[in-house]
Amino acid sequence: MNNFDYKKIRVVAMDLDGTLTQHKSPLTPENRAALDALGARYKLLMVGAGQVMRIFNQMKYPIDIIGNYGMQFGTYDAENNTQIMRRDVTLPCDRDDIDRRVSALRERYGYTQYRGENVEFHPSGCLTFPLLGTAALQEDKLAFDPDRKKRRAFYKEVCAAFPEYRVFVGGSSSFDMAPAPYDKYYALDLYCRENGLTHDQAVYIGDDYGLGGNDEAVYLSDFPYLTIDDYRDFPKVVKGLLDQ
Ligand SMILES: [Mg+2]
Repeated sequence: MNNFDYKKIRVVAMDLDGTLTQHKSPLTPENRAALDALGARYKLLMVGAGQVMRIFNQMKYPIDIIGNYGMQFGTYDAENNTQIMRRDVTLPCDRDDIDRRVSALRERYGYTQYRGENVEFHPSGCLTFPLLGTAALQEDKLAFDPDRKKRRAFYKEVCAAFPEYRVFVGGSSSFDMAPAPYDKYYALDLYCRENGLTHDQAVYIGDDYGLGGNDEAVYLSDFPYLTIDDYRDFPKVVKGLLDQ
């Protein structure tokens, strides 16, 4: 939801890569300063696709972190400058069955040539379907699908083949999957329920709000949403929140 009442906002929730930082890069001084200003007025919350500790080590910022689309939740421990894990869900999966379904999609859409493994299985139960394989060269991955058209062309079919997962057009050349119901909407809704907040009290900021993006579920929901297309614009994007 793009129209919302700024005066109701208590929590500023946000994505990391592409929103606050360049992919896998540290915070810029400008964005750190913007977070400091927001933190003086609002509760800050990171809602990430990756693991809590990976996000914390990348950001090096005192913030509570939802990881793995809500499967993990960590709160900042100021005394030891680390995260205390409050939730850490792992779910089993039938690897042979997943392998078969991924192979069928490769056959059908012409991705039978790949380097390394067919599927990457994460300890949480999340999956990555890397179209070029788990050992693809970085340069090949970056050149593969910069406008995401190749993956969006059969995104719906991948979702249909994995109905028990939430599927995202992730990284440069893959589909990421989290076991349903975990996605950023579910995670943010759960956070609100656990903290006695209504949706109109939490604004979300994220760059990946298009078809299949990992912020899309929040974007299409009733949560207040601020879009961002370049992490360097973060201070500008949050200006309205600081002017209240
Ligand atoms: Mg992002």
